[in-house]
Amino acid sequence: MHPIGIFGGTFDPIHYGHLRTAFELTQALRLSEVRFMPAGNPPHRDITVASPELRLQMVRAAIGQQPGFNVDDREMRRAGPSYSVDTLTELRSEMPQRSLCLIVGMDAFLSLPTWHQWQNILTLSHLIVAHRPGWRAPAKGPLGELLVDHGTGRVDDLHESNSGRIFIHAVTQLEISSTEVRKLIATGRDPRYLMPDAVRDIIQQSGCYLQRA
Ligand code: ATP
Repeated sequence: MHPIGIFGGTFDPIHYGHLRTAFELTQALRLSEVRFMPAGNPPHRDITVASPELRLQMVRAAIGQQPGFNVDDREMRRAGPSYSVDTLTELRSEMPQRSLCLIVGMDAFLSLPTWHQWQNILTLSHLIVAHRPGWRAPAKGPLGELLVDHGTGRVDDLHESNSGRIFIHAVTQLEISSTEVRKLIATGRDPRYLMPDAVRDIIQQSGCYLQRA
């Protein structure tokens, strides 16, 4: 059984930076699937702009029929903040033997020490860090130490154990962020080619980003 990638985010909205990252990691790490998990009520972010229903609809539209890409809406169905540690605990109890790979961008990895029960994350899953434009891997501090203890460059390590390693992978650098996409739309510009057309259609029909970035 190959590892499963878990890709959490607000996806407000989902864009090609997310999709290309998930695709490249699927191939590079030989993942059996990537589960996109839109956060319901993200604990360390400002309130989201598009509603949870709309963000979920956009994620579904974005992945379409892509083999190996799936949506898991459990964080949206759960009341209260979406803590990754709770989601991983649930997944681990459903799949006790499976290698789980939590996918995060470098910016999200750098905020790891602020996550709820962050020290437990690596007891439940591996951590896959997608290199993002403009962000460097930490060499010192708690994350630098974590990388010394848990870092690996071997894909096979992610297959041979089901949790506990950190793997940093350079993905094609696509300088797209949801914040910039929302700003662009709020100022009347067209997000074409930053995301699949099916996502752009939902944004245009709902008008969800016209007011606020
Ligand atoms: P925002 O601009 O509001 O911070 P975002 O574009 O980072 O949003 P999120 O939904 O917060 O989107 O991202 C989910 C995950 O995807 C995070 O781990 C983030 O680091 C990663 N990610 C987002 N954009 C990219 C990108 N262009 N390349 C690689 N990873 C990305």
